[in-house]
Amino acid sequence: MKKIGLVLLALISLGFACIVLTFTTAIGQKFYLSMEGEETASFIFKDNDKSTVYMKGVIYAGTLDDIKFLLSENPQITKLVLEDVPGSIDDEVNLAASLEIYHRGIATHIPADGFVASGGTDMFLAGVKRTIEAGAKLGVHSWAGLTQTATDFEVSDEVHQPYLDYYQDINIPESFYRYTLEAAPADGIHWMNVQEMQQYNVLTSFIDTNELISNLEILADDKMKGRATGHNEAAQSLILAQFNRYKLKPFNDNYKQTFSFTDEKTKLTRNGTNLIGYISGSETPEEYIVIGAHYDHLGVVEGKIFNGADDNASGTSALLSLIEYFSNFPPKHSVIFAAFDAEELGIHGSRFFVENSPVDLKQIKVAFNFDMIGRNSNNEIYIVGTNYYSAFKNTLEMSSKYTNLTVSYGHDNPDDKEKQNWMESSDNAPFFLKKIPNITFSEEDHPDYHKETDEFSGIDQVYYKKVVHLIIKSISRIDANLQKITLQK
Ligand SMILES: [Zn+2]
Repeated sequence: MKKIGLVLLALISLGFACIVLTFTTAIGQKFYLSMEGEETASFIFKDNDKSTVYMKGVIYAGTLDDIKFLLSENPQITKLVLEDVPGSIDDEVNLAASLEIYHRGIATHIPADGFVASGGTDMFLAGVKRTIEAGAKLGVHSWAGLTQTATDFEVSDEVHQPYLDYYQDINIPESFYRYTLEAAPADGIHWMNVQEMQQYNVLTSFIDTNELISNLEILADDKMKGRATGHNEAAQSLILAQFNRYKLKPFNDNYKQTFSFTDEKTKLTRNGTNLIGYISGSETPEEYIVIGAHYDHLGVVEGKIFNGADDNASGTSALLSLIEYFSNFPPKHSVIFAAFDAEELGIHGSRFFVENSPVDLKQIKVAFNFDMIGRNSNNEIYIVGTNYYSAFKNTLEMSSKYTNLTVSYGHDNPDDKEKQNWMESSDNAPFFLKKIPNITFSEEDHPDYHKETDEFSGIDQVYYKKVVHLIIKSISRIDANLQKITLQK
């Protein structure tokens, strides 16, 4: 293990800034001054798992060779966990080493107690998949050379080029580089918040997308027998497992909200079960956002199982992933997660929820609904409701940048004769009728709609993941800006 030169440490302890570093390269240095003697970067395996390597320490002149050696000796490595990488004292080496990681297709990850900054952040960005746990720190700042700092140079100066080339190579927007120069001076640090991470594509995913897909597949499996109201306990178990896993808070000590209703077709009384849990907001807990999706479907009809993969295993699985997301990135406002029952029989579950709401309806500032979001041959998704709640539109539009989806607004105007009005055709209806702002994500109907052919195989996984990411970006941005949005009304 090597130590950074004593001269450097002495200078740091005297409070000198980066520009006095004795290590100089053509393109400056990024180093976050932690005031402690930092070890140079080293790599270890843990628990006999040779596919994941853990990194700790400052990136230095030897790191490129170290990484090349590590990866050629261990071609089975697929993941690099950056535990404590406060910076780089040789950015030229860092960018080359990072490209090595990128070209090998390695994923990067920062654990909950991880601490990554500056040049370490550049290396993290090289991961082809990039994930971070709640609590982890990811810092950025400007860089400094021997006598000048990055912002002393014109925007067009070639001194910026190695960084710009690097970000272009790894598909990070150029705006990210400009942002780091402004975020903090070279001797300071800015810890990125989740909105910034979203804006600059810092993370490739905010949820486990494998789980998103597998939950949909399980919900749409024949074993679930089409999730008909009264026969959907298996689906309830899957949903409750996620509620328990992330320790959602229950209202009245119970996630289950049971209700009875009269089936319009048979005139029989039937029972339904909504599943409701919530996360308290970190800043404004007395205001609520509702995120809902119906988990029931048509069940078994004339011996055929209607699996409802798109309608609405897709929305239900998205709901489960949003529980994961908001557990890892806590919301400012309280968020209620609602898996509604008996939508297919006449929107009974969400109506019961609204009429027996566990919180005062005035405290619900906006309700989101997902119903059929798993497939569309035109790569198009509708955001429904802004015709009534225009204050949300700007934030939604900002969230849909870089999604590679055709995001359309509509199906929310009774005067539009060309587009069916969806304001009262799903679980958004009871909220709409109570004048609670609500936004629904849904795609246009397809040939398998309400047929036994609405199967998992028909789900377009790439499209579905993009829609769920759009939903995450939209709701988290609305949570962050809710005060401003509601003032606008
Ligand atoms: Zn539906």
